[in-house]
Amino acid sequence: MPAVAYSLYIHVPFCRRRCAYCDFNTYARLEHLIPAYVEALRKELGCLAKAAGRPLAVHTVYFGGGTPSLLPAAAVGQVLDTIAQRFALAADAEISLEANPGTVSLAGLRALRAAGVNRLSFGVQSAHPADLRLLGRDHDYPTAIRSVAWARQAGFRNLNLDLIFGLPGQPLSRWQRTVELVLGLAPEHLSLYALTLEHGTPLAHQVEGGLLPAPDDDLAAAMYTWADERLRAGGWASYEISNWARPGYACRHNLQYWRNLPYLGVGAGAHGYAAGQRTVNVLTPQAYIRRLQRPQARPFPRTPATVQARRLTVEDEMAETMMMGLRLTEEGVRAAAFAERFGRPLEEVYPAAIPRLVEQGLLAWDENRERLRLTARGRLLGNWVFRAFLP
Ligand code: SF4
Repeated sequence: MPAVAYSLYIHVPFCRRRCAYCDFNTYARLEHLIPAYVEALRKELGCLAKAAGRPLAVHTVYFGGGTPSLLPAAAVGQVLDTIAQRFALAADAEISLEANPGTVSLAGLRALRAAGVNRLSFGVQSAHPADLRLLGRDHDYPTAIRSVAWARQAGFRNLNLDLIFGLPGQPLSRWQRTVELVLGLAPEHLSLYALTLEHGTPLAHQVEGGLLPAPDDDLAAAMYTWADERLRAGGWASYEISNWARPGYACRHNLQYWRNLPYLGVGAGAHGYAAGQRTVNVLTPQAYIRRLQRPQARPFPRTPATVQARRLTVEDEMAETMMMGLRLTEEGVRAAAFAERFGRPLEEVYPAAIPRLVEQGLLAWDENRERLRLTARGRLLGNWVFRAFLP
């Protein structure tokens, strides 16, 4: 059996300020911790490599956040050097970094490219000033246009742009205009997310207090369907519920998650899935730095930053393979791969749920009965479908 290739997620929990809808593990006004945090990241990577006892094959690296573009390019380069020294990093590894327009410069992007980053993901969110204001974003659309132009000048050939739809008071026409404008920037990849109102965020408070209308689910579904049709007609592959790519540009890092394959997570609050365990790191950057000051050896895949490690049952792994795999709208869950991995055919494991969801028009087999996939209706009701596979 070929050795498993890992993906590596690096969490960067710093932002200039908090956006109104955000409940990610990120902190404003802690940028002074960045040097110590980068040192801690390198130590945690060293601990993981040592605990593994051999150089693990790594084929994707993803700097996510937070705002990883707040890291100086030299710091990103140091982290990548540590990875190259302690892991078997593939020569063609996909190395992604999330960036916010307004936190990048042409020189900084050139330095990131020289350090080895080969994919950027910009949080554009909208082309309309009213949407950006409502979301509490720190940039305007002209800044996003300039950032994308600089990324191209710096040599990036693989760009993702994130957009959010279904905002309170956002009309369909405004969303359509955003998509059309952003297509004009010629990205290779688009992630389009429906707004979810996260409890405790300023945006949720405004809606709960009646200052803003609640998001309209039917309108959000219409926005999603319109964008999907528009992008497919333009030659985009709709490969995951919220992700579209030009041919050959599906995000390899995120495919690792959706295929339920192993990944290592380093940094504050990072999650990992390796050796049959799900791990979670300590949440705050201060506690994270403290834990890495005098690191104690722990058995793989734990590190001194791990605060939770749960061994998964086969039932858990099968359920996660279904819930993640069905997000892949074209690939779906391959019956042969499932049977090979778990030693049991899909229909035997889910004798009631699959026929019922097929009958309800939410799931469908492909013509050769090799792949199980969401239908167009199932895509709109994804969370409801996934629940049917919970152990
Ligand atoms: S930039 Fe991203 S991570 Fe930071 S506060 Fe805004 S939404 Fe959250």
